[in-house]
Amino acid sequence: MLRTSNYTIYVDLPDEPDNMLLVHGYSGAYDKVSRRVATYVRHCQNGPIPKPLYGDWSPEPEQDGEVAEPSEAALETLKKRGYLTDLGPEDEAQRFENMVGKLHHLQSQMMPGYIVMPTYSCNLRCSYCFQDHMRTNPSFRHLLRTMTPEMVDRIFGAMPEIERLHGIEDVSKIPRKFTLFGGEPLLAETRSIVEYFMDKAFSFGPAQFSAVSNATDLHHFAALLGPEKIAAIQITLDGPPEEHDRRRIYADGAGSFDRISQNITMALELGVQINVRMNVDRNNIDQLPELAETMIARGWPEHPNFSAYTAAIHANNDKTDKKTTFSSWILVQELDKLREKHESMKVISRPDDGLIDRVRGIFDSRMGAVTNLKASFCGAHNKMYIFDALGDVYACWEKTGDKSIRIAAIDEESKMTWNDELNGIWRARTVTSNPVCKNCRYSLYCGGGCAVLAELKSGNLNTNFCDGFQQRLRAAVAEAYTDHLSRQPLPSSVEQACDV
Ligand code: SF4
Ligand code: SF4
Repeated sequence: MLRTSNYTIYVDLPDEPDNMLLVHGYSGAYDKVSRRVATYVRHCQNGPIPKPLYGDWSPEPEQDGEVAEPSEAALETLKKRGYLTDLGPEDEAQRFENMVGKLHHLQSQMMPGYIVMPTYSCNLRCSYCFQDHMRTNPSFRHLLRTMTPEMVDRIFGAMPEIERLHGIEDVSKIPRKFTLFGGEPLLAETRSIVEYFMDKAFSFGPAQFSAVSNATDLHHFAALLGPEKIAAIQITLDGPPEEHDRRRIYADGAGSFDRISQNITMALELGVQINVRMNVDRNNIDQLPELAETMIARGWPEHPNFSAYTAAIHANNDKTDKKTTFSSWILVQELDKLREKHESMKVISRPDDGLIDRVRGIFDSRMGAVTNLKASFCGAHNKMYIFDALGDVYACWEKTGDKSIRIAAIDEESKMTWNDELNGIWRARTVTSNPVCKNCRYSLYCGGGCAVLAELKSGNLNTNFCDGFQQRLRAAVAEAYTDHLSRQPLPSSVEQACDV
């Protein structure tokens, strides 16, 4: 007997109230159907829709209209495309689990991504920083050392062992990718070790460097910046000068906007790709138009290498009041309102522009649609390694600086000593690691949400953290589809078959 696949997604199309888009959560299929057909498909849902244990589902679009069976031909197409299935719920869950297992293996067997922390130290004291305790609590002072050349040698000595785990034997042709992270990685006092690290990397073969930096000391790094050196930097500005200087302050309370701003201009002129990030909550969102105007006045958006985007601040330390924070979905809506009122806001991307780009893959090539699917949320679950100045190795950059949660340590001979249990916990988290994500129709587009935020919310890393993803995906699919149609009108087979 035919039933609705657990992974059928229904998307409202704002300009087409009589139609809906069906997207299949693991086959990559999509089809525009009449609401009447969508109503029939929803009617075939067998049993209650699974709910998350923690966090909220966004409401699904309403099932509306009378239930009428479509033609035989339409039914056959709906089955062929996966929206209706004759697999029982358990058999379908097993098929899904097998597919996720294969996808996760494939996504793990790639060149690892390396995050390098030359120090946990930082010259700023932002109140919302997740590493705030390292600088303010003296019991963490031991972490504030700078990486030594000897430690750099140890790290490079350990990389082949790591790469073999990912099926990589020869690095002479595949570029190693490094992101410099901290603390603040680009401080005047880390300049020489960063240069030593980069020289060492290039001596083994191709390498690519990027950084996450506050950019206050970037002027000391001018000779290390450029398309073939540190090619991309993510820099945070938290508002126009006055607001930024209230939030991103030096230890003596002084503001940092002017210095950062000069360094952004310098780096753009050196050909570095600059990504300005704005951490946004309810206290500073209204100041974004003024910041956009500040960026325009400085001429940054005219550089092809410049982009700016927003990210929701999450309450991940006790100095951040949860009531002042947004979920990513609410932030998208607030930004859309600001865009309607302020032309200048166009220079700031919305948080989900990247998601829209990713879901474009559903429409741009039917064969390629599954390449956009994610067995897990981020590199912490497959191939990311974070090295710190103490020789400790972590899976997630928010979970660093505590030996008890490291996944490995590098000894003086460059041998890796693994914490198999913790490494297993991090690397095995996929969308099938908890029952909520496993039954979620959106899971292969979402990946299961950030593990750290899930743990903060529920006390367990292997739970879901939805962050409004269901609404965000449906909105992103609708926008990408509308855009796709404007470039390439393409009636779907179901739409034709369902003309009943
Ligand atoms: S896959 Fe994503 S949207 Fe679905 S339940 Fe898990 S965290 Fe939520
Ligand atoms: S688990 Fe969350 S915090 Fe950690 S790297 Fe992934 S997305 Fe970032």
